[in-house]
Amino acid sequence: MDVRKILLTEDEMPRQWYNILADIKMNPPLGPDGKPISPDALAPVFPMNLIEQEVSSERWITIPDEVLNVLSIWRPSPMVRARSLEKALGTPARIYFKNEALSPPGSHKPNTAVPQAYYNKVFGIKKLTTETGAGQWGSALAFACSQFGLECKVFMVRISFDQKPYRKSLMAAWGGNCVASPSRETKAGRDVLEQFPNSPGSLGIAISEAIEEAVGDTSGQTRYSLGSVLNHVMLHQTIIGLEAQKQMKKIGEYPDIVIGCAGGGSNFAGLAFPFVLDKINGKKVEIYPVEPTACPTLTRAPFAYDHGDSAGYTPLLPMYSLGHTFVPAPIHAGGLRYHGMAPTVSQLATEGIIEPKAVTQLAAYQAGVLMARTEGIIPAPETNHALACVVDEARKAKEEGKEKVILFNFSGHGLIDLVAYDKYFSGELKDYVLSQEEEDKFEACLKNYPKPQLLKSR
Ligand SMILES: *Cc1c(COP(=O)(O)O)cnc(C)c1O
Repeated sequence: MDVRKILLTEDEMPRQWYNILADIKMNPPLGPDGKPISPDALAPVFPMNLIEQEVSSERWITIPDEVLNVLSIWRPSPMVRARSLEKALGTPARIYFKNEALSPPGSHKPNTAVPQAYYNKVFGIKKLTTETGAGQWGSALAFACSQFGLECKVFMVRISFDQKPYRKSLMAAWGGNCVASPSRETKAGRDVLEQFPNSPGSLGIAISEAIEEAVGDTSGQTRYSLGSVLNHVMLHQTIIGLEAQKQMKKIGEYPDIVIGCAGGGSNFAGLAFPFVLDKINGKKVEIYPVEPTACPTLTRAPFAYDHGDSAGYTPLLPMYSLGHTFVPAPIHAGGLRYHGMAPTVSQLATEGIIEPKAVTQLAAYQAGVLMARTEGIIPAPETNHALACVVDEARKAKEEGKEKVILFNFSGHGLIDLVAYDKYFSGELKDYVLSQEEEDKFEACLKNYPKPQLLKSR
């Protein structure tokens, strides 16, 4: 029988994460005064051991045994050759994917939720707060907190809380406390409700509530946790790419193209950064982050300094940004509706080391359905964006008659997002492409901030 799954044992799990800050130059984050912030300024929000990781330039960082032990519930994740998809496409390309859908919450997000919960626990923290949109991050953090006996409080954007109840149930099953945002429990929430009693909420409001609740705990035993964008999140996700490199080596392959969908950038970075290191060291490999045309951060936005949240509480980060006031069209890939992009991913894009692509919503679902009808598994709406790019590249390989090796990240399954598939099948989903008018708005939002430098790492 032909080999489909390339597996590693627990003993073959990577013992260190790869830290890309050792290999690239970065603009520093800036405080409200326009000067680089000191790491201490983040201490009320994050525990010091994670802040140290955030700013570390050590190339390899040891993964604690307690973290490996929890990750081993589902890791190493299989690398799968998508033979049926290849056949349906009639392509000479060999297509492989890392299946990150096998974690308990069904996505790559626990790869960072678990170490974040662990480092908070070690630091003496008793409770974590966070925000969530459609609920992937909230459920991942609730799962991780349950593994380490931490309390977990999730502020979930009101409209998702009402319309997408099932990840709320996941959080409850893992003992997390999920409330609709805006809530009456914080000043930030009450202020919004006073003005807009029926507010549907937003990620920006939910972030403000989660930070307020963490910083406001006078016992000092609560911290806040973020599921993407930051350096330490990208670091934790690199276990995906490090495993993939071992798996590729086992079968004597090496990818010509590495692909991941990009919202805040973490699942893309997780698969891609170890290959970026190879590329920096002279290997030939093409690396594509894929985003929706409705929220085209890397492909349409300027490289700028901007806040990570819509209220403007966070430091200014050097990143491609549609402006922190940008409200993307209501596409169903909730995880890809973020206005910014991880500063590390952004830096690589400025240097041309990675080449961003954008795909439309309908192309994404079309590719997702092809995956479901060939490989059997139903991808998350976010993952469908990576798949649309994979299908494009496989078709190109066919036209050129080239045996390309394509590796992509299957970031999560879509079993809790079936409402979106129903809408696709009934023809209710639309394509959105950013208008010139919207583009003018984000230029205006960013106009008064300092500009990051264009740095060359080599
Ligand atoms: C959250 C999420 C994403 C997008 O987030 P990144 O930080 O860009 O990875 C992609 N896929 C799935 C399944 C998600 O849950």
